[in-house]
Amino acid sequence: MELEDINTIAVLGAGNMGHGIAEVAAIAGYDVRMRDIKDEFVQNGYEQLEWSLGKLAENDQLTEEAADAALERVTPLVDMEEAVADADVVIEAVPEQMEIKTDVYTDLEGVAPDRAIFATNTSSLSITDLSEVTERPERFCGMHFFNPPIRMDLVEVISGAHTADETLDVVEDLAEDLGKTPVRVRKDVPGFIVNRILVPLMNEAAWLVEDDVATIEEVDATTKFDIGLPMGSFELADYVGIDVGYHVLEYMHEVAGERYEPCPLLESKVESEAFGQKSGKGFYDYEDGDGADISMDEELFSETVKERLLAVVANEVAYLVGADVASPDEIDTAVKLGGRWPNGPAKFADEYGVETLADALEDAYEETDHPRYEPFDYLATVAEEGGFYDDVSAGETDGTPDFEAIELTYPRDGVAQIELDRPQQMNSISIALVEELDTALDLVDDDDSVRALLLTGAGSKAFSAGADFMSIAGSGTDPYEAIELSKDGQETFGRLEELELPVVAAIDGYCLGGGMELATCADIRIATSRSEFGQPEFNLGLLPGWGGTQRLQRIVGMGRAKEIIFTAERFPAETMAEFGFVNEVVEPTEFETAAHDYAEKLAGGPPLAMRYTKRAMHKGWDNHEAGLEIESLGFGHVVNSEDVHEGINAFFGDDEPEFEGR
Ligand code: NAD
Repeated sequence: MELEDINTIAVLGAGNMGHGIAEVAAIAGYDVRMRDIKDEFVQNGYEQLEWSLGKLAENDQLTEEAADAALERVTPLVDMEEAVADADVVIEAVPEQMEIKTDVYTDLEGVAPDRAIFATNTSSLSITDLSEVTERPERFCGMHFFNPPIRMDLVEVISGAHTADETLDVVEDLAEDLGKTPVRVRKDVPGFIVNRILVPLMNEAAWLVEDDVATIEEVDATTKFDIGLPMGSFELADYVGIDVGYHVLEYMHEVAGERYEPCPLLESKVESEAFGQKSGKGFYDYEDGDGADISMDEELFSETVKERLLAVVANEVAYLVGADVASPDEIDTAVKLGGRWPNGPAKFADEYGVETLADALEDAYEETDHPRYEPFDYLATVAEEGGFYDDVSAGETDGTPDFEAIELTYPRDGVAQIELDRPQQMNSISIALVEELDTALDLVDDDDSVRALLLTGAGSKAFSAGADFMSIAGSGTDPYEAIELSKDGQETFGRLEELELPVVAAIDGYCLGGGMELATCADIRIATSRSEFGQPEFNLGLLPGWGGTQRLQRIVGMGRAKEIIFTAERFPAETMAEFGFVNEVVEPTEFETAAHDYAEKLAGGPPLAMRYTKRAMHKGWDNHEAGLEIESLGFGHVVNSEDVHEGINAFFGDDEPEFEGR
């Protein structure tokens, strides 16, 4: 079967995941049959789906017409035969119990067309075992969406022992067509990739407290603000549901051995039904207390905690790579998307030093004699080789530095192209990216053969969705450092603006926050019709810190600039063209050629006249320096405020922030 052969998708189960998967498939244009066992259940799922489509339309993430058309494509059903009779693919999202799933597959096999592929959304059960219930184990695989499917980009596509490569290929194509990023899990190992990393991490955090190595407060402060993960370990457990993590762990314990023995601390929470956020209490109190209010106090950071957590993570990565389940790069992609980590676990391990982590693991094993610290064989190999990745940043080849966060190419005569190259992070701007951009600007500036610069973002989701505030929050808690960070960015962005050659920003997808500030420094902006613009800093209690308070009004006028910054809303490309920010709107299919053509056209212009014209135009702007000074001081002032803490927590918790002006 090829992707073109897939028209109808049956989703079994209209619960949390089922209705979300049905929604994603309907938006992508598939006919969807959504089935549950009772009319009331399927109607409930349908109503949630309708509500969610309405929300997307309300937030301009989908037009009203597209939302209506998607809803039209969904048929809620109770009758199994009717649900699957025309199905090309069946995605199963019924409760996580082997008996229920076995019954469902037995019924399904009798009524589904022979050609249909079966994909299970199970979080932990064995794909091989499930596939053996059917008569088509080669056309059976895992298709593990993350919650909520509409927003989470990752789909783990898992091979069972009998799955044919063609099945995995087409299911990956389907996941891509649904707008998701598939990561192949080549072997059916408990936890697949993301849970294989996150669940042992949660368990280790609990063991560290159980063994009196550290307090919950210390573990979470270290996880969130020293390591730099989006949530503390216990905060994450509460967020996901301690019971959910515990059940995956129990399963891993049963199938993969003693190293996954669930920590008694987790067990006691499950027994007392303190499951976390959903039950009001877990490790934190969400009813009578402030929830997970994690301190940024460096006094609480513990190197032992950091080392042991990262050592356990590195060991799991080594297992997955050594057993050929996935490559370090695939693992990093999966955990960045599925766990919202700023860096992948292999990268974290490399940065800390795999050898040091392997030693720490051995020491902990000797000290505690607990099997969770027993190194997997492949860890020693990785330690010997100096890490999971070849060290690319160290070497320079033929005078061109090996960039990681950007790419510098020369697509046309006289045109240099700098591409922001962090597609998994929506090309968000990290401190490292700003540094690389600065180096690339040196190269472009020094190269007389370059007559125009084109600025783009890799992938089709975003030009850049903004500052990578995880990388920034890690170093930006000190207001003086925040001021420096703002100034460094201002300086590099300013250099871009002042380049003597014309700069075209070609935008496809999100162009938000720091990304929009970067695009503002270009001379010309072209954008695809699907692009969206905005300065959402106020949502986080922050302010634009890379020249956004100074440049935008020069292009769109003070009134519009205030509208954009104060409302923190998203504006479509057409509107930004009316505001004068976007010079030309093009269709996605014409985008690349249009971008190259535009840059090439400007590269053919008179360099000297260009140089003096740009200089003269820019010199005409007054008091720029003073404005930038206030901007960076303001940025330093707010970066540590309670409002920013609130804004960032609300962002990750997907809540509305409540700002207090503190
Ligand atoms: P849920 O309980 O919200 O939904 C399951 C639905 O399946 C219910 O509406 C139930 O009535 C229905 N159902 C039961 N028997 C059925 C049958 N025979 N045919 C059709 N429908 C039937 O559960 P969920 O959270 O949506 O989880 C579903 C699956 O997705 C599980 O395998 C789970 O492990 C997996 N998963 C869950 C998450 C998550 O965060 N919730 C994330 C990834 C994967």
